[in-house]
Amino acid sequence: MRAAAAPVSPVRPRASARLRWTLWVLLISLVASLLVTLVWLAGRYEASQVQTKLERDTADALSDIRAALTRNVQSLQALHARHRSPAAWDEEATRLLRDHREWLRIEWRDASLAPVNDADTPYRPPPFARLGRGNAQADVAQACAVARRVSGPAYSNSYFLPQPDGLGIEVMELCLPQVSAGELQGYMVATYSLSDILAGLVGPQLTRSQDVSFTEADGTRLAMQGSTRRGNRVFTSQQLLDLPGNTMVLRMDSWRGAPDLFPNVLTALVTTMSIALVAVLVLLNKDARRRLRAEEDLADALAFRKAMEDSLVTGLRARDLEGRITYVNPAFCQMVGFEPEELLGYAMPAPYWPPELADEYQKRQDVRLAGQHAPPREGFESVFMRKDGSRFPVLIIEAPLINHEGVQTGWMSAFLDISEQRRVEELSRASQERLQATARLATVGEMASLLSHELNQPLAAIASYATGSINLLNAVDDADRPGDASERAADIELAMRRIAEQAERAGKVIKSVHDFVRRRDKEREPVAPAKLLDTIMPLVQLQARKLGVRVETRLESGLPAVVCDRTMVEQVLLNLARNAMQAMDHASVREPSLLMEVRRASGPGMAAKGWLEFSVADVGPGIPDDVKQQLFTPFFTTKAEGMGLGLSLCRTVVEQHGGFLAFEPRLPAGTIFRFTLPVDDALN
Ligand code: ADP
Repeated sequence: MRAAAAPVSPVRPRASARLRWTLWVLLISLVASLLVTLVWLAGRYEASQVQTKLERDTADALSDIRAALTRNVQSLQALHARHRSPAAWDEEATRLLRDHREWLRIEWRDASLAPVNDADTPYRPPPFARLGRGNAQADVAQACAVARRVSGPAYSNSYFLPQPDGLGIEVMELCLPQVSAGELQGYMVATYSLSDILAGLVGPQLTRSQDVSFTEADGTRLAMQGSTRRGNRVFTSQQLLDLPGNTMVLRMDSWRGAPDLFPNVLTALVTTMSIALVAVLVLLNKDARRRLRAEEDLADALAFRKAMEDSLVTGLRARDLEGRITYVNPAFCQMVGFEPEELLGYAMPAPYWPPELADEYQKRQDVRLAGQHAPPREGFESVFMRKDGSRFPVLIIEAPLINHEGVQTGWMSAFLDISEQRRVEELSRASQERLQATARLATVGEMASLLSHELNQPLAAIASYATGSINLLNAVDDADRPGDASERAADIELAMRRIAEQAERAGKVIKSVHDFVRRRDKEREPVAPAKLLDTIMPLVQLQARKLGVRVETRLESGLPAVVCDRTMVEQVLLNLARNAMQAMDHASVREPSLLMEVRRASGPGMAAKGWLEFSVADVGPGIPDDVKQQLFTPFFTTKAEGMGLGLSLCRTVVEQHGGFLAFEPRLPAGTIFRFTLPVDDALN
């Protein structure tokens, strides 16, 4: 495995394809030429066999002829020696001529070559009938001259002897001198027909499939014997027939058929092997094509993988079990700023480890390579160093590298450069802080608004108690009865206590609102629902009296305590009661009445845990549809003096307790606001 290998140029595959084709063409032409050479060699071998056989046949024919000629000479000698009387000679000569078809005529001549006796072959008409024997005298004389000189048989040159039938035969004279007691007695002359020599003296097996002929040295054919021509390829063998007085060439021609496809076993073998070779070549070619296709598929897969690797933004690195880096992808190189060559093969400490953390990393790697702890699947964070020395945080996800045999060969790690993520987190943290600062400022405003809203009531109550007290004090001056004085003093004291209560309440409200706005959980306490109503009732009554509203409270018997931030829940009840009374006042309802009710809540989800439902009902004008939409929006109000914070505060407080606040129209007129609060578990 190697990353960032030189990109495969498109020229190279084309060049290698050309080379492959050249090699194939070379191989095929080599094989073809080898085959041609083999077939040619086989043919040549066959030809040389034929030639050798022909040479042998020629030599055989030659020795046949020589032996026969020698035997003939002996026959002639015997004829002369044994048959001196002309009659006996005739008889014997005729017998000899009958036995020797090659002889046309035998003559007995005296020492001056004058004829003494003669005999012609019985197989032909007299051979010299046409030419006349005298015309051949020169040839006879020439042969006998040589014979006398060598004291043995001698032959004349051959000559053409015309025949009565219009044809002619090539003949040659044999002259055998007859010497008795060292004196020449005469000659035996025999006339040979050359073609009959070939027909009679050469073994028939030699002439069966080939031509035998006598030619002169210049190639002129004298006589011929043999089969008719077959085939078109001719093999020729020539050997000299060296006779005393005459030299001829014995020539043998052999015909072979056109070069056969399977001239013999060798050629057949060579052809079979060639076919096998070609078949193997075809199979090899097929196999090579299959390999080529597989190679192409592999190249495609590799290109695909490379494209995939190059497009990855995740750094990839593989290490073997010794911790040496065996693979890095381009994204990893880009991340750390090193070239693949600077990383591959390197073991620990890696060049991208910050020196100050190298020890820690080394320990981590030792643990990993020892295979004791599998790396966490979700990855772990680390710090790497770029080549320029700058550090950056990375998220590393490691997995074992398993080869095709299922054996672990190392570790594959994926790296994510999380410096950007860190920067964004830092930014968001800073902006969060800024937001919180802004929120604190907003809180101050919200608190001021809520305080002014919630403190209205206690302040108004204080103001009205104070006014009442002043009125009572003024009345002291006019006091005429002592009993009245003591009654007034008691009233003033009550008014003062109420003022003190409201002042204390105002303090509590300030604290509760403060806690509420800062979203700080206040200690919640179990409170009996009746207590809650009792606490707010003086304030409700104060306003109710002013507006002429009849207030009624209704509590189910045996209600458990609710767990709540008491002051805030009291504020909720106060706000709802005040809204109800104001609504009836604004609509100038004739008999305004307010019903505050507490009972056990029922409904889905309510049964499991105990809940109490508080409701505040009026007989006012109800809430118009357009107002309903924005009822809980802070600062939404339909009143000239309103702040629009009451209901929004109510809902938040109720929801903080886990309950919910809702409203619905009341029949025949008015509105009911309901909210729930959880019951104290301990008491339940
Ligand atoms: P404020 O009382 O300061 O206007 P609230 O949030 O308490 O603010 O009330 C918002 C509006 O809801 C009121 O202005 C009023 O129009 C309407 N509203 C509240 N309670 C009732 C009710 N019982 N009957 C009719 N309208 C109501």
